[in-house]
Amino acid sequence: MGNLYYPHLMQPLDLGFTTLKNRVMMGSMHVGLEDRLWHFNEMAAYFAERARGGVALIVTGGFSPNRAGDLLPFGSKLVSRWQIPFHKKVTTAVHEAESKILLQILHAGRYGYTPFNVAPSAIKAPINRFKPRELSSKGIYKTIDDYVRCARLARKAGYDGVEIMGSEGYFICQMLNTRTNHRTDEWGGTYEKRMRFPIEVVRRIRESVGSDFIIMFRISMLDLVEDGSTIEEVIELAQALEQSGVTLLNTGIGWHEARVPTIATSVPRAAFAEVTARVKSAVGIPVVASNRINMPDVGEDIISSGAADMISMARPFLADPEWVNKAAEGRTDEINTCIACNQACLDNVFANKRASCLVNPRAAHETRLLYTPVLKARNIAVVGAGPAGLSCATVAAQRGHKVTLFEASGEIGGQFNYACKIPGKEEFWETIRYYLKQIELHDIDLRLNTKVTAEMLRTSGFDDVVIASGVAPRIPKIPGIDHPKVVTYQEVLSNTIKPGSKVAVMGAGGIGFDMCEYLTHENTSPTLDKEIWMREWGVDGSNETRGGLVPADVLPSPRKIYMLQRKTSRFGQGLNKTSGWVHRAVVKMKGVETIGGVSYDKIDDQGLHITITAGTQSEAVNERRVLDVDHIVLCTGQVSVNVLYKELEQDDSKTCQLHLVGGAERAGELDAERAIRLASELAAAL
Ligand code: FAD
Ligand code: NAP
Ligand code: SF4
Repeated sequence: MGNLYYPHLMQPLDLGFTTLKNRVMMGSMHVGLEDRLWHFNEMAAYFAERARGGVALIVTGGFSPNRAGDLLPFGSKLVSRWQIPFHKKVTTAVHEAESKILLQILHAGRYGYTPFNVAPSAIKAPINRFKPRELSSKGIYKTIDDYVRCARLARKAGYDGVEIMGSEGYFICQMLNTRTNHRTDEWGGTYEKRMRFPIEVVRRIRESVGSDFIIMFRISMLDLVEDGSTIEEVIELAQALEQSGVTLLNTGIGWHEARVPTIATSVPRAAFAEVTARVKSAVGIPVVASNRINMPDVGEDIISSGAADMISMARPFLADPEWVNKAAEGRTDEINTCIACNQACLDNVFANKRASCLVNPRAAHETRLLYTPVLKARNIAVVGAGPAGLSCATVAAQRGHKVTLFEASGEIGGQFNYACKIPGKEEFWETIRYYLKQIELHDIDLRLNTKVTAEMLRTSGFDDVVIASGVAPRIPKIPGIDHPKVVTYQEVLSNTIKPGSKVAVMGAGGIGFDMCEYLTHENTSPTLDKEIWMREWGVDGSNETRGGLVPADVLPSPRKIYMLQRKTSRFGQGLNKTSGWVHRAVVKMKGVETIGGVSYDKIDDQGLHITITAGTQSEAVNERRVLDVDHIVLCTGQVSVNVLYKELEQDDSKTCQLHLVGGAERAGELDAERAIRLASELAAAL
């Protein structure tokens, strides 16, 4: 009998010479453990935890077949026999947990962030400062040999197969497209010639490794760049790859230099499944769908509708290693859902730091952050049910402590509840749902509508009191700040007031940008309407047009918005590396007027009076303006709410251990990632 909850997703997949136990794959993601061999024990623990969680197939982060293909200087590569014992630790750990694992072979080409990078033609990538050297024809043959060597080494190291990275704009994409391939020899010109490289790579690997080794090819189904491939070319390539010995075709969407978001939280779930379905209907081998799949019902729909044979998720396995087991057992509401924020995973990787996960700080730190069961339960009070209080309470309770969680308002979530209200951040609700379920599972005594005072705690007999009372909006000192036109982001997002048709957003941090998203969308969220989203970003989801791009058609903003900051630097400079550009693009496309170098003079019935300073310090030009607006929304940062802590700290008669965490401890540079991470670490140590 099939699985009761997700019968299609949990069905085995027969590949002829081997069988995958279900249709869920952990896709490749570089987490920063791949580059140094002394991290391979940790990498083994990281993958083994996911394998024990039930996933059928795992793909490692990218390993280059040679030095020229490095993503970073001294980046991960598999080039020599002496590396095999290190990889064996990983493959053995995964096999012991009854899963299968592929090594991804990734040649970065012109995306290699090194001065030694190479490409089909010497054309610099817009996202890389290093211009590549053009590979000679001999160099291309040598590169094919290197791919083959890498696959053979992978086989010796115990991998069940390899994934050949042929998407996201890396070397193989660069070979395939006229955007990056201007060659006139046997590797350039017609599509047939441009296609020769990946076909040769697959043919030669298959010849070398035999028939009982998985070769998965990640094909770029939608390039989302000018002069990218058409659907006809993608299908021609897919069919040729099938003929050459590929076992499985995986989906890649968008080159890294594309100006369309493909994995950000504002991308609709399973947005690109349509193009995968087109390719699947043209080949006989199994096809894998990817991008913005994070919950089992989405995966089940994709497989049951015949759009793909398997789903691939990478970040959702950082968020919850047990995703598959929970889905298979009908415990979907226990899944810690990846909210596609990129804050602790990709943003860390781009900052050359080890990846982790905002909602699961243990990710890629499995051997360092341990939630061990306690020998003696303590009686713990946690004050505040924002992200910090929630993570502290749930981790402590999971370890066996007795936890009481106090929350002044009528719901859990704290400031995170406001994030959920932003169009494009609907995924954030999943985190609140996850914590609600954890509270129930671990018998946490949740006391809503209970504002804790020092007096209440003094006589309560708790062993530990954790103050996680969070933050409140900062109210700047500006003449007229008490004027009725002035409102906080909290008042707007809690629907206490409805902003008028002309609004000034004061402050251009994360919350200022989020406020602009909120105010430029009236009762709509393109994230929940795939058609609108595709139109606004100019995407042809079926890839009928070259590169899958069409002219963007943006819905106008329902109101005139100004966004202001005192700094003269670029707007949104402090936003997250991998998703900040998406917020900046939305603000621009919705016509928000950004004004920097501002000082706030006063607020009165006329509106917001500002002075804009332009030019250099010695030749500054001051321009006075009155912004005739209905409302001024304060997004001017936050301050800690820590009165309770200070009172308790000074109380010498207290018998409990006192702890302070999250925004209550430090409001500057606070985000949910820091709040959850530090609170989890605290709970692990209690
Ligand atoms: P809070 O969230 O402030 O929670 C504190 C809780 O304590 C509150 O529920 C409060 O009611 C309660 N409390 C206070 N005093 C008492 C008391 N005496 N007794 C009982 N309860 C009490 N962060 C990100 O990382 N990524 C994002 O994309 C993101 N987007 C955001 C968008 C918006 C619009 C906003 C407003 C914030 C966003 N944040 C984001 C920031 C994130 O929500 C905060 O950093 C995080 O909520 C701080 O967590 P905390 O638990 O420290 O504090
Ligand atoms: P923030 O990023 O610190 O921005 C505060 C803004 O207010 C700045 O633009 C600042 O710009 C302005 N400001 C500060 N003090 C002011 C004053 N006294 N008078 C007038 N303007 C003042 O904080 P935030 O936007 O409140 O965000 C809070 C946290 O939530 C941040 O750490 C952020 O990372 C997180 N968050 C993250 C996301 C995300 O997508 N990852 C989204 C939302 C929030 P000037 O000083 O130049 O005027
Ligand atoms: Fe997903 Fe955000 Fe965690 Fe990355 S940090 S895995 S995007 S929830």
